[in-house]
Amino acid sequence: MDEAGARGAGRHAQARKVSGRLMHQANRALVLNLIRRHPSLSRARIARETGLSPATVGTIVDHLLAENLVHEETKVATGAVGRRPVGLRFNPQARQALGIDIDVLEITAALVDLGGGMGPARRLPVPPGAGPALVLDLTADLVRQVLAQAPGALVLGAGVALPGMVSWPEGVSLFSPNFGWRDVPFKALLQERLGLGVLVENEVRAAALAEFRYGAARGTRTAAFIDVGYGVGGAVIVDGSLYRGVHGAAAEIGHNTIEPGGPLCACGKQGCLEVFASASGMVARALEALDAGRASSLHSVPRAALDFDQLALAAAAGDCLAVELAERAAAYLGLAVANMIDNWDPEMVVLSGSVIRAGGRLLEEIEAFEQRFVLRSGAANGSVAVTRSLLGAEAKIVGAAGLVIAEFLAAPLAPA
Ligand SMILES: [Zn+2]
Repeated sequence: MDEAGARGAGRHAQARKVSGRLMHQANRALVLNLIRRHPSLSRARIARETGLSPATVGTIVDHLLAENLVHEETKVATGAVGRRPVGLRFNPQARQALGIDIDVLEITAALVDLGGGMGPARRLPVPPGAGPALVLDLTADLVRQVLAQAPGALVLGAGVALPGMVSWPEGVSLFSPNFGWRDVPFKALLQERLGLGVLVENEVRAAALAEFRYGAARGTRTAAFIDVGYGVGGAVIVDGSLYRGVHGAAAEIGHNTIEPGGPLCACGKQGCLEVFASASGMVARALEALDAGRASSLHSVPRAALDFDQLALAAAAGDCLAVELAERAAAYLGLAVANMIDNWDPEMVVLSGSVIRAGGRLLEEIEAFEQRFVLRSGAANGSVAVTRSLLGAEAKIVGAAGLVIAEFLAAPLAPA
């Protein structure tokens, strides 16, 4: 063989080695996920279901047992002659992923197991106007606290839920109106600080993944999500996949213009949904009205201390200004839900966030407005469920960690 031929043969051998390794990874993921979804499967059943040889299944299961990802069920002594098949069970506690929810007001982090089970959460407040460097340092501190609580945990990496537009998979915060950030390479900067793999996703998309896997949208294929908290965000899952859009900005409904020429939004535009319906927007509108001399019980609250909780209390007590602001928020959110339904034709719309959680009958009011605005021509429109998040504030943490877990379960073997 000449030199070029030898080089060619070498490349072929290398390619065979790589494809052999990929094949092994794919088979391993196939077997692990089968055991994860169907408890109590025997090796023989796995071989039948996957079409892999019993020897290959045996080798893969031995590796999964050695890595503690799978347990054998206790054999029941029956007195029968011969080998009885032993059932296998997935062990969700074998690995953990960090889930980190970064909000304008606070950072929350917890470990999440492979089954979506969340451990105790720790929080740190974010000082007003914090820049990326401070937020990254606080996040790294919080992660050290969470890890110190769980010595011996095998941590796969960290998933981060971040407000605003985020590029995937690069994890660059392209534009976060509420933090005032542009083009911050958050993933790279946090990886440097943590020495761990990091994945970063928009916060509402992270929460949507968690609701889709474990919460309110479980069992659906196409669902829309609206989060109403400090800001307003949206997400859509289409045919079982998160739809991010070309620039990571799909379903950013908080910045849909709803009143041209309306109040200035943090994004630089005027009259966005967020300036009327978010916690920060409603407080800003209340302060404007108070400054303009509107009669309200809220005059008794020092301006600097006025927050959404006080606004909600005043609305519950029948204060005219607070009621008016809450009703406008409900109307515009109803319009947003109707537009989501008409744009994406989902099976379900899930509403989450601190404003929805605090808002008494807000969900019912939003639904009433949605019914007024939604297109009635399609037979399906009447049957779109508008529902509250099941996982609540935990959804962002579980969903962020879920990004890391999904990668691990797709290829549970570190590339050699
Ligand atoms: Zn805006």
